[in-house]
Amino acid sequence: AHLDRIGDVDGAVHAFLYLNGDDALATARDVDARRAAGEPLHVLAGVPIAVKDIVVTKGMPTTAGSKILEGWVPPYDATITTRLRAAGLPILGKTNMDEFAMGSSTEHSAYGNTHNPWDLDRIPGGSGGGSAAAVASYEAPLAIGTDTGGSIRQPGAVTGTVGVKPTYGSVSRYGLIALASSLDQAGPVTRTVLDAALLHELIGGHDPRDSTSIDEPLPALSAAARRGASGDLTGVRVGVITELGGEGYSDGVRARFEESLDLLRGAGAEIVEVSCPHFEYALGAYYLILPAEASSNLAKFDGMRFGLRVTPDGSDGLAVTAERVMSATRGAGFGDEVKRRIILGTYALSAGYYDAYYGSAQKVRTLIQRDFAAAFEKADVLVSPTAPTTAFKLGEKLDDPLAMYLNDVATIPANLAGVPGMSVPNGLSDDGLPVGLQILAPAKADDRLYRVGAALE
Ligand code: GLN
Repeated sequence: AHLDRIGDVDGAVHAFLYLNGDDALATARDVDARRAAGEPLHVLAGVPIAVKDIVVTKGMPTTAGSKILEGWVPPYDATITTRLRAAGLPILGKTNMDEFAMGSSTEHSAYGNTHNPWDLDRIPGGSGGGSAAAVASYEAPLAIGTDTGGSIRQPGAVTGTVGVKPTYGSVSRYGLIALASSLDQAGPVTRTVLDAALLHELIGGHDPRDSTSIDEPLPALSAAARRGASGDLTGVRVGVITELGGEGYSDGVRARFEESLDLLRGAGAEIVEVSCPHFEYALGAYYLILPAEASSNLAKFDGMRFGLRVTPDGSDGLAVTAERVMSATRGAGFGDEVKRRIILGTYALSAGYYDAYYGSAQKVRTLIQRDFAAAFEKADVLVSPTAPTTAFKLGEKLDDPLAMYLNDVATIPANLAGVPGMSVPNGLSDDGLPVGLQILAPAKADDRLYRVGAALE
């Protein structure tokens, strides 16, 4: 049914870069046979899933939305992929994304735009717009995204889906094509909070192949979602972050946010104000740390090891060296946004500038972590709008990088601090488009997101 739905709507939505239909059907049939034989199966066995094209999948092309990886078929599976396959989830295909997950609209994909199913002239968010659009358009009931600065939560907000960025270190990064290793975290994109909890429990937990993986069991996430579904939040302290949600947020987003505070009060939660004074520097720090790490992570795309190779024809009479192959390959294979960030990152890391830029950004990161620690003394969870506006029109912000970066102003602090965050659908704005509510919890307390998120559903 999902493959049929993809056939019907994906021409207009363009959520998928690659379809894995035959293999998905074979998995589904295999699960049916095992179920008929009475074999005990995972609760999500047979439930189809779409996977962001930054997660490596053995035997399926993986491009990370870039021309430089066109035609690359990974010889191995990411830990996430291994766990999906082992539990019997048919993988429908790979979803569109901004190139190397740099962006907030999926317009930086080298393979064309994804359209928001709510209004095809609008962006589905980014970088994981393909995963969010696939779920919102009923092409897939579940999807995997990655969130380095908001790429699960912001697409969730603008497509009316649930998106979770887990605690840093709680879902293995083995086999994710790295954007910024200290910020990257994969997580679920779903239509309900309980679905997200079940998927998070499947993909999360310790993995010896990721040196930053937390060697502890996950908290009980689906139990928390089930508890929250009762709608009772008596005794839960919810902190409203003074610095997020004021100027720069649209009226519709603010109105829905105020209503969600009423809903939380109605459920018995206590609303408190918390101040996180260093959040105003989060965007600036992020756009130094991310490009610095990305410039280093992307150095491996050199025209020698993966995908595209462009060899100068030698007609200029100069020797064709490895360095010139690298330069020609990177020049042709990377898009403008990727080049912009490599230049920003290498500049920020260069001798003489390192302390002023990268060093300062790391100090800001510590101050943001302290803001969170102080806020979580007063509140069990924090809330804010997920994104400042509803989905904007395709093309509207494409030529203005700063306007694009500002979409992540509310989601970035969680990545800098490593704390978990969820975006839950929070009704429609007066323009008829979905709005998201962001819920944040202390590291390793992801269960609180699920309890509060489910209570609001
Ligand atoms: N929009 C942010 C960026 O462009 C988020 C990226 C992400 O989370 N992958 O960096």
